[in-house]
Amino acid sequence: DGLKKKEFSSIELTQSFLSRIRHYDPQLNSFVTVTEEPALQQAKAADEAIARGSAGALTGVPIAQKDIFCTKGVKTSCGSKMLDNFIAPYDATVVERFKQAGSVMLGKLNMDEFAMGSSNETSYFGPVRNPWDTDTVPGGSSGGSAASVAARLTPGATGTDTGGSIRQPASFCGITGLKPTYGLVSRWGMIAFASSLDQGGPMARTAEDCALMLQVMAGFDEKDSTSVDRPVPNYSASLDENLEGLRIGLPKEFFDEGLDSDIARLIDEAIGEYRKLGATVKPVSLPNMKLSVPAYYIVAPAECSSNLARYDGVRFGYRCKDPKDLHDLYMRSRGEGFGEEVKRRILVGTYALSAGYYDAYYLKAQKIRRLISDDFKRAFEEVDVIMGPTSPSVAFRLGEKTADPIAMYLSDIYTIAVNLAGLPGMSIPIGFSKNLPVGMQIIGNYFSEARLLNVAHRYQ
Ligand code: GLN
Repeated sequence: DGLKKKEFSSIELTQSFLSRIRHYDPQLNSFVTVTEEPALQQAKAADEAIARGSAGALTGVPIAQKDIFCTKGVKTSCGSKMLDNFIAPYDATVVERFKQAGSVMLGKLNMDEFAMGSSNETSYFGPVRNPWDTDTVPGGSSGGSAASVAARLTPGATGTDTGGSIRQPASFCGITGLKPTYGLVSRWGMIAFASSLDQGGPMARTAEDCALMLQVMAGFDEKDSTSVDRPVPNYSASLDENLEGLRIGLPKEFFDEGLDSDIARLIDEAIGEYRKLGATVKPVSLPNMKLSVPAYYIVAPAECSSNLARYDGVRFGYRCKDPKDLHDLYMRSRGEGFGEEVKRRILVGTYALSAGYYDAYYLKAQKIRRLISDDFKRAFEEVDVIMGPTSPSVAFRLGEKTADPIAMYLSDIYTIAVNLAGLPGMSIPIGFSKNLPVGMQIIGNYFSEARLLNVAHRYQ
């Protein structure tokens, strides 16, 4: 039952997940690397710790890491040809903390290249398939994380969310995912895409499991300059708290014509359950929501163009064959190492930051970002949580949106504002439409993760 009860030895548990991975993953492609031997060694050590009586909640519990987190001695590809040969010399803080908690790492999970995408189709290692219907996408960019949890290849996985990449795949695959407040989870060793938006978080079957994982992941890290130094609450302790008097806000902008009618109906039903638990519901407005996708597609590419400048073929990563000179080395290493979507983002970002354009694009996008934060601030003066859809549709078919980047970008229309404001958000499964899972988004005020997990748990 989830991550909590240990009725098996860690070795048995680990072997059972490894054998499911061997059996099912050739079809799903959710893992880039399976670390079988080290996993069994970690499981053995965990069993010894349990026998000694020195075990924590996750001791011996298998998890898998999105391949954006650096893992010492294990390939960290970030879904790119550029890093296909990169063996990180150190562990990300998140990886290190799971190790210290005694959990077992099953391997590294497939993802969109450098986390740029919403369907896992930009991965150099090929698309991941949605276990509910293998002709559909699992969502992205944490598609390998969502698919592997949904297919029970791992009890939990890490993900990252820059513009929806934990919540949207969680929704498409029928699992629970939490994007924490910006600054709660250390970004050290998490390969940077858009540093002011990137945030790691847990993906698992339930809020209860996410709480156990977040407990390990959250907390101050002096190695990340944007890490917030404040006490971490006990996330499991408040899961069962009463929801009597909870004020739920429904932003009218979340329920416009763009939303699938089945999804709207399921959300309505879920809200009905919360009313039964004593919650009250109130309409709110986020008038600048509609500007979130355009603002994001300036800010994120701008930051990515700067972050990805480090991949120059010199110190690490892909290097082209027989460069003629230094310029040729840069040009061809980057030209051959990056995929199409990554190049599109670098071009857009470089353009937006060019002399003469900065005020028109980047500065304007930053101003919109402030307006969006203010919208949420006003809403949270009146309500405790905001609920709405995670994505406008259920999982779409593989290839359906690959030729149309704008259509792809719009699948994040309900998630991106949360990243621009730095707020925490979750997606929980609430039912099915066309035999595919539907997720509902729950957004909270800064550092309200304990409340979000409590609200999610009471529904589950
Ligand atoms: N789909 C969005 C993008 O492509 C968000 C990705 C993410 O959250 N990493 O940028």
